[in-house]
Amino acid sequence: MNMETADKKINQSVPGAWSKRPLIISGPCSAESEEQVMATAERLAATGKVDMLRAGIWKPRTKPGMFEGIGTKGLPWLQKAKKVTGLPITVEVATAKQVQDALTFDVDVLWIGARTTVNPFSVQEVADALRGVDVPVLIKNPINPDLELWGGAVERVARAGIRNMGLIHRGFHTYGNTEYRNAPMWHLAVEMKLRYPEMMIINDPSHICGRRDILLDVMQRAIDLDFDGLMIESHVDPDNAWSDAKQQVTPEVLGEMLNSIIWRKEDVNSEEYHAALEKLRHQINHLDDELMQILGQRMKIAEQIGRYKRDNNITILQTTRWNEILERAFAKGDKLGLSKEFITKYFDAVHWESINHQRKIMDS
Ligand code: PEP
Ligand code: MN
Repeated sequence: MNMETADKKINQSVPGAWSKRPLIISGPCSAESEEQVMATAERLAATGKVDMLRAGIWKPRTKPGMFEGIGTKGLPWLQKAKKVTGLPITVEVATAKQVQDALTFDVDVLWIGARTTVNPFSVQEVADALRGVDVPVLIKNPINPDLELWGGAVERVARAGIRNMGLIHRGFHTYGNTEYRNAPMWHLAVEMKLRYPEMMIINDPSHICGRRDILLDVMQRAIDLDFDGLMIESHVDPDNAWSDAKQQVTPEVLGEMLNSIIWRKEDVNSEEYHAALEKLRHQINHLDDELMQILGQRMKIAEQIGRYKRDNNITILQTTRWNEILERAFAKGDKLGLSKEFITKYFDAVHWESINHQRKIMDS
C-alpha cells in the first residue's frame, strides 16, 4: 500500500447517519454557488429531518451545452456546509479523478449515477480508484431495467474492498411519455432488495417523478414498500435551478412532505397484530394452494387441446381465441377489482405456460 492509499484509509470513516433509518438525503441537483449550497444546507438542517447533504458537482447531461456541473471548485463549498451544519456530504462520482477530488475534500459518501452504472468500464474505473479506501458508496440503478447490470456494479465495487454499500432506486427509462420521468418499476427494486438483503435501498423520488406534484405519492409508496430511506432534490429557488428545476422543492416544502408521510415499520411487537396477520396469511396460503391446483388442471386441459391440434395439423397459436380469452378476463376482472395491467400480465404467463404444454404434446 502506498502512502497515498494509506492516508485515504485513515481519513475515511462511515458517518453516523449511514445507519439511521429512515435515512434522508437531500440537497440540490447541482451545486451552483457557495451561497446556494450554504443556504440550502442551512435550511435543510433547520428542518431537523435531513441526515445527509447531497449536491451534484459533475453532471452527466443528455446534451452538450447544458450545465455540466460547477466542477471541483464546488467541493470546498460542500466542505464548508458540512462544517457549519454538521451534515455529512455525498456527491456523484463517475471517474477516477472525481473520486480522488471528492475524497480530498472529505466527501463522506460517494454515489454512482444511473448513467455510470450502465457502463462497466466506468464502474470499474471508479471501483479501481476506490481500492484501499473504505468510503461508503451508494449505487443507483442503471437507466435501463437490467438488474444484472445493477448487480454487476455492486460486485465491482464490493471487489474493490468497499464494505458499506447501498442501493438507490431512481426509476428506469422508458420510451415515450408516461406520467413519470423514469418509470419506477417497483418490482425491480423489490427484486434487488431480495437479492441483496444486507444492503440498504433508498428511493430517489425526484428522478422518478421529474415533477413536484407527484413526489409525495412516490415517497409514500417507497416507505410502504419498506425502503430504508429517501434521496430527494431540494433547492432554495427551485424554479431557477440550473438543472432539474421542475422536480426540486424548497427545504421547507421538503420538511412538510416528510411530515405528512405515514412512516411504517416492517414489524411490530403486538401479539394481537401478529395473530391477526397469521390468520390472514393462512387464508392466503390456502387460496394460493387452490390457485395452483386450478392452474395444474388448466394445463392438463391445454394438453388435451394440444392433442386435438396435433392430430388435426392446426397451429398452436390462434390469435382470435387469445383475444377472446383476454376480453372475457377484462370484463370479469373489472367486476372483481383486478386491473387490466394485472390481468394482461397474468394471462400472458398462463398463456405461455399453456403454449409450452401444447408444444410438448406436438413434439411427442
Ligand atoms: C442526480 O442525482 O442528480 C442524477 C444525475 O441522478 P441520476 O444518476 O439518477 O440520473
Ligand atoms: Mn438531478
